Amino acid sequence: MTDETLIRADGLSVGFKIGGGLFNSHILKAVDGVNIDIARGSFFGLVGESGSGKTTLGRALLKAVPISDGTASYDDGEVSYDLTTLQGPDLKDYRKRAQLIFQDPYAALSPRMTVRDIIAEPLEVMGLTRTREETDQRVREIAAKCRLNLEHLRRFPHAFSGGQRQRISIARALVSGPKFIVADESVAALDVSIQADVLNLLKELQRDLGITFLFISHDLSVVAHTCDHVAVMYLGRLVETAPTRKLFTAPRHPYTKALFSAIPSLDPDDRGRAQKLTGEIPSPTNQPPGCKFHTRCPNAIDICKVQEPALENPGDGHEVACHRWRELLEQVPG
Ligand code: SF4
Repeated sequence: MTDETLIRADGLSVGFKIGGGLFNSHILKAVDGVNIDIARGSFFGLVGESGSGKTTLGRALLKAVPISDGTASYDDGEVSYDLTTLQGPDLKDYRKRAQLIFQDPYAALSPRMTVRDIIAEPLEVMGLTRTREETDQRVREIAAKCRLNLEHLRRFPHAFSGGQRQRISIARALVSGPKFIVADESVAALDVSIQADVLNLLKELQRDLGITFLFISHDLSVVAHTCDHVAVMYLGRLVETAPTRKLFTAPRHPYTKALFSAIPSLDPDDRGRAQKLTGEIPSPTNQPPGCKFHTRCPNAIDICKVQEPALENPGDGHEVACHRWRELLEQVPG
């Protein structure tokens, strides 16, 4: 791990047992052998279709689901933890340092608690404050940081709009002073104008508090405008990872190219060139052999059906897992 790395995973896998009994159960590999480095203070995007394993990877890095294979570690410069074996008081401390912002601001907040109590709950559960005054002071400080009206702390969530509720969720995630936040589709349920407001807030928190974000999203336009670095997932594996600008200007993996071509373009020529992604993502319980994308890839050849490509780093920080990426780069789009 370099000095700059907050989270590192090596061959990280997460499997779930499906079905009961001795003979009719099998393992669903939601995340399979992922290597990832998330730099401190970065806004790291994770993209892919639904069912690609993004959410499970995020949960595994938060220790919310068990890691079945490989290793993962956390190092914020103050403490370092092996996430594979973390338990007891260290796990309790990690909960304070690593938090989640949920997707749905309507479902995430208890309708029976006031905004003050919702934000204060992690402080009380984790024993981070000793008196009610201390808790109230911290709640007010964080609410102000999230641009919530302090007059509204005694109200209940139903009195707020989607954007305000998401700011309450962010304040709750922020109150324990985390260094790492997983934002899982955190703006997906909001109107476009409100999305911009919440994204600006997250970027402000990254800049002012040095928080590292793992930003999980299916919305590539949002990722292009907010993230420093992006990883693309397909069927539990990372297929491409690069600094955002490199990835969006010169994608190397056919899956990434197909995802990007689905972004609406104002250029009519671009629209004509759009490479449609056909078919469904295969079931994680019945994965194809070789390259997992070969059943949908327009560039698949024989080797793709039998040999899985490794994630290759050609030395320019732009990693890709495809047997043909070099030769495809040389092909001029028609
Ligand atoms: Fe397509 Fe083959 Fe590359 Fe997989 S390895 S993305 S099937 S060209």
